[in-house]
Amino acid sequence: MVINPARNFMSTSDEVETDVGWRINPNRRPAFDVFSIITGNIQAAAFILLHELGHRTKSYEDNDDDGDPLAGAINNGKIHDACFRNLRRLRSNARLGMKS
Ligand SMILES: [Zn+2]
Repeated sequence: MVINPARNFMSTSDEVETDVGWRINPNRRPAFDVFSIITGNIQAAAFILLHELGHRTKSYEDNDDDGDPLAGAINNGKIHDACFRNLRRLRSNARLGMKS
């Protein structure tokens, strides 16, 4: 478990984007769509803590090693579904990258 203090956990931005999923889309290069949510900076810090708690509780099962951004987005999706479902997923134009 690693929280990068230079990234979203300590962000002071009004809007923080967090990747929460992806799907294959052969019409795009790279060939996938990324989905993200936008939160305020305190919500983003809470999201990151919940993500890390998911590792601690082994909630990600076989996907626990999320060094790969795709795996990280899948795990973030579980936190989104469980705790932030009120925030709509948006298709992101940004390249996939863990923001935590
Ligand atoms: Zn993680």
